Amino acid sequence: TQQTYIMLKPDALKRQLLGEIITRIEKKGYQIVQAKLMQLDAPIIAEHYAHLTDQPFYPKLERYMLSGPVFGMVLEGEDVIRGMRNMMGPTNVFEAAPGTIRGDYATDVTYNLIHGSDTPETAEAEIKRFFG
Ligand code: ATP
Ligand code: MG
Repeated sequence: TQQTYIMLKPDALKRQLLGEIITRIEKKGYQIVQAKLMQLDAPIIAEHYAHLTDQPFYPKLERYMLSGPVFGMVLEGEDVIRGMRNMMGPTNVFEAAPGTIRGDYATDVTYNLIHGSDTPETAEAEIKRFFG
């Protein structure tokens, strides 16, 4: 089995979609092995999105991620990294099909509700970053 780091972003909490999203994860069959609510700060956001700090949209992304608490989880399951990326849908919500989390609930490229690790290497680093 495999582990991944999933983070429900501030808009998921503000819009009260936490239960909805967690229900989908549970019904799919992934195990939640760790979970916590946290308020991120600018340094940890910069570390997490280090590949994007040079982008013109980074200040907006930072404001978004600072705008309220996030709900971080470690999930476990067969091929869970790829499986969760499929359930989330692509970054560009206009390409996210109905049936995916972003496709069903998000209308904006920035405010896209959920983060999921994209490789085993980033999953390991992100689990360490947020759960020590
Ligand atoms: P995440 O890392 O949050 O799971 P992702 O892997 O689908 O998302 P990344 O390319 O890593 O996408 O971008 C991280 C986040 O930055 C996106 O989820 C989104 O909130 C924001 N973002 C990415 N591209 C853009 C863009 N072109 N304009 C505005 N915001 C963007
Ligand atoms: Mg990413």
